[in-house]
Amino acid sequence: MVSSLWSLNIPPKVRIFVWRICLNAIPSLANLWIRKVVADPHCLRCGAAVETSDHALFWCGDARKVWGWNWFDSFFKELKIVPVLDVFHILLSKVNSSELAHFCLITWAIWNDRNSFSNCGISKAPKLVVFRAAKLLSGLLKLNTEVTILKNIKSIGLGAAIRDDKGKIIIARSRLMQGSFSCETGKLLALWEGLLVAKFYKISMNIAEVDSTSVASILNSSNPF
Ligand SMILES: [Zn+2]
Repeated sequence: MVSSLWSLNIPPKVRIFVWRICLNAIPSLANLWIRKVVADPHCLRCGAAVETSDHALFWCGDARKVWGWNWFDSFFKELKIVPVLDVFHILLSKVNSSELAHFCLITWAIWNDRNSFSNCGISKAPKLVVFRAAKLLSGLLKLNTEVTILKNIKSIGLGAAIRDDKGKIIIARSRLMQGSFSCETGKLLALWEGLLVAKFYKISMNIAEVDSTSVASILNSSNPF
């Protein structure tokens, strides 16, 4: 199992983190309590259980909310509470290396969020924890937009999707805007919508894809307005 995890295409810091999980060497409160570093091993986030590695990463309510944002949620729903190594063992028999890499990145992001809460009392929204992992997965994010002109109701439909380098959507948004607009204006508005979403979730994108040469020339112009 360790060799499968070690060969994953993930950033070195995540690989080392997973390695430490396998050795039960992450500083969970249970591990610190055993070493008499802390007086109480109970989870600071939920207070409902001793904070073992598996509790912090998989079973704590905050961690479960993060897993709830992706398909691993169904994996956990079928799983009884088991130690952290068993989770990886079972997962290895069910997923390919790309999915396993994604799993490790989310695990790393959950641990970072847990540390942020422990150190500063600040925790990210579950969706933002997932996005942090997705950013690590690729380092290359692309924004696609869609526009639908709805003349009969004098409105325009704006859609924006941010994808990772595998084309997987990590966030999407759509909305209806009232008014009559040209197609080019609509495409610019959709792009604006996508950039607002990216800004809200603090996502830095590498590519914004538009299917209009006139819109692209406006964006590429040094003095667009
Ligand atoms: Zn907890």
